Amino acid sequence: MGKIRLLTDEVASQVAAGEVVERPASVVKELVENSIDAGARRIRVEFARGGTQLIRIEDDGSGMDREDALLSLERHATSKIRSAADLADVGTMGFRGEALPSIASVSRFRLVTRPSEADVGTEIQISGGKIESVVDSGGAPGTSVEVRSLFFNLPARKKFLRGEETEAAHILQQMQSLAIAHPDVAMKLMRDGRLVWQAAATNDDEVRIRDLLGADFTARLMPIESTEDNGIRIEGFVAKPGEGRPDRELQFVILNRRVVQCPAVFQSLREAYSGALPKGRHPLAVLRISMNPLAFDCNVHPAKREVRLHRPDLVRQAVYTAAKRALDAFRTPIAAPSKMDRPLHREEPPVSVSPTPQHVSFPLPPHIELPSMSLPSKPDEAVDAFRLVGGLGGRWILMEGAEGLVLLDTRAASERILFEGLRWEAGMGQVGSQQLLMPEIIELTSKDAVWISENLSALQAVGFLLEPFGGCSFKVEGLPTCLSQRDARTALLDVCETLRSTGLVGSGQPVLDALVRSVSRIAAINGFKYEESSARRLVRELLKCELPYACPQGRPTMIQWSFHELDRKFGR
Ligand code: ADP
Ligand code: MG
Repeated sequence: MGKIRLLTDEVASQVAAGEVVERPASVVKELVENSIDAGARRIRVEFARGGTQLIRIEDDGSGMDREDALLSLERHATSKIRSAADLADVGTMGFRGEALPSIASVSRFRLVTRPSEADVGTEIQISGGKIESVVDSGGAPGTSVEVRSLFFNLPARKKFLRGEETEAAHILQQMQSLAIAHPDVAMKLMRDGRLVWQAAATNDDEVRIRDLLGADFTARLMPIESTEDNGIRIEGFVAKPGEGRPDRELQFVILNRRVVQCPAVFQSLREAYSGALPKGRHPLAVLRISMNPLAFDCNVHPAKREVRLHRPDLVRQAVYTAAKRALDAFRTPIAAPSKMDRPLHREEPPVSVSPTPQHVSFPLPPHIELPSMSLPSKPDEAVDAFRLVGGLGGRWILMEGAEGLVLLDTRAASERILFEGLRWEAGMGQVGSQQLLMPEIIELTSKDAVWISENLSALQAVGFLLEPFGGCSFKVEGLPTCLSQRDARTALLDVCETLRSTGLVGSGQPVLDALVRSVSRIAAINGFKYEESSARRLVRELLKCELPYACPQGRPTMIQWSFHELDRKFGR
């Protein structure tokens, strides 16, 4: 007697359910997507106890007649595709015909549905996959699906679920993604009888993003100019320079109305922001990518969270270009100086530098509103657009701009100025060095000495004039101009120490970049004595930079409080 038996439909559904229905949040996703596919204009979602007790989705979509309602609960019953060929270009959220039967097989399930043209609807109750009743029902046109006691008949799976809070958090996140991906549908979310949020239908992406994530979040974004290249349309919003997070929680990538995880897109965003965000931080983004459904495959993940792009290189290029363009546009209110009239800091060091470097590190404030003031096109006029008010705390410059109060961090600003100047000089192979009056012989520990020998050419490229002098000694004849006020030994060791912490070695571009970064960090102003002329010079130099709004580590150089905000703070 053979050992192979066909699974009963019931068991087969439960097996499939394991794939589609991972947790309560996946039920929410499948049901809301069904509502969207049914053309709903409004969707109400309710859940209780992390979704394990109750999930209810109500929509005003097309509804189903009795025959279709019963059919929808059969495995592989779908109204959305007919043949395998259709799979290649599905325009709907669902297409496998698995969700409803899978969910119904692992819960106490109730479907109430009525097409708008019918006088009466249908109510179907199912428990653990078995139909218990099919009756007429009243109710408004549309569909309501109620899922109670999820996994009640699969104790092993139930045990797999996390705490109520965690499951609720997954649902909230899922709903957030769905709402951001479908601003044209009004949505309402209730949790344990209380309203979590509701969002009106809108055709303005920004309105929906603000409804879901708040005005603070939107203030940290800038729109990207919508572009289309190779049939790939990119729209949406990306972070202003400096606006990132240590995780990707606030990176939404929407591919043809579906929020997806797409490594190619993540990577190009990271690359585009390499100079505008500290390492390890991810830019905020709400990116809407539209392309021919034939150009990718969304049938690779049970929950369709991941997609396989046929041409990831093209998508990567498109996203990178769009983000870069937005970053560029963010600074264009100020004319971009041509490469040739870049400031050469050796001719005009922006401001005097205090003699002893002190490494100040400060935490990144959780939310900074970068100034988005529109500035006249020439840096000089731009400076005039600010009225200098005075100095603050030996570090900040207070200014009045057209839109409010602007605080400029002299340290961050000088870091940005030095960084861009040095990087440009290093790129041209002409970093300025200042000869020491007397060459200095520096004796180092063997560890430092080895390390410096390994990075000698990179150090020379950024302006350290030094050569081995036998044993662990080096002869220093000059320093990068911006460090010329420093004690040679301290300057050298400081730069080495910061560079060493990056773990980079050699003479390649990454080492050079890291060196430029650390030299500018060390040379940056530390303690600013306010004086109108030097303040003005600093502002002017900053506004000539390519990315004036953030220092090379990605911290803001200026923050603004608009008059409007000030009014609010004073209770107006
Ligand atoms: P799929 O979405 O992959 O087609 P589902 O099991 O999720 O499979 O749904 C099966 C079918 O039931 C759908 O193709 C659709 O015709 C119908 N259906 C499901 N939910 C709704 C709804 N909220 N309103 C109208 N029809 C629905
Ligand atoms: Mg579906």
